[in-house]
Amino acid sequence: MVNKTVSKKIIKRLKTQYRISTPLRFTNIYQLCVAVVLSAQTTDNQVNKVTPLLFKTYPDFYSLAKAPIKDVENIIKSTGFYHNKAKHIVALARTIVDKFNGVVPHTRQELMSLPGVGRKSANVILAFGFGVPAIPVDTHVARVAYRIGYTDSKKPIAIEMALEENIPQSDWITAHLLFIYHGRAVCSARKPLCSSCPIISYCCFENKNL
Ligand code: SF4
Repeated sequence: MVNKTVSKKIIKRLKTQYRISTPLRFTNIYQLCVAVVLSAQTTDNQVNKVTPLLFKTYPDFYSLAKAPIKDVENIIKSTGFYHNKAKHIVALARTIVDKFNGVVPHTRQELMSLPGVGRKSANVILAFGFGVPAIPVDTHVARVAYRIGYTDSKKPIAIEMALEENIPQSDWITAHLLFIYHGRAVCSARKPLCSSCPIISYCCFENKNL
């Protein structure tokens, strides 16, 4: 299992490997909340393709709350699962307007009460919207953390706890991004490129593809 000392070396090594930037494009908390819901089951790039028109048409929670679902569906279609996503983002906007007076709540619990927002999405909003330390566990973070050996559980909540325990809080958001980059570039689901992996010496993955 990875301990704090090894974890520190892993994060340090990954920081030299990847340039940090936020993949989802947004300019305010409204846009972030909507983009996060749209990002379920698709890539951030795909979301970035539809959000310029979506945000031009509906620039805030108030306009989106009144949007006809069909019109929203037409704009976000290419992100997949668009019936549900359209319903979720309009319901989310209505909830923010009606229940929170148009202001996005700052706590994980309140965020998770919003339509279409689970724990991972709430953590993304906390981290990138409010700068609150959090480690959103998506499919890449989960796979990379599990393989490296942060935990022997595949449950996202267990992975999140193990990462929080072994990574200094000041690095939580960065670690989340680094694991995503690493999962995409090297430690892919089907064929991890272990022989060219910069953190192979710290990794517990048993089926190293060497
Ligand atoms: S050694 Fe292989 S399994 Fe481990 S992190 Fe690197 S690519 Fe992933």
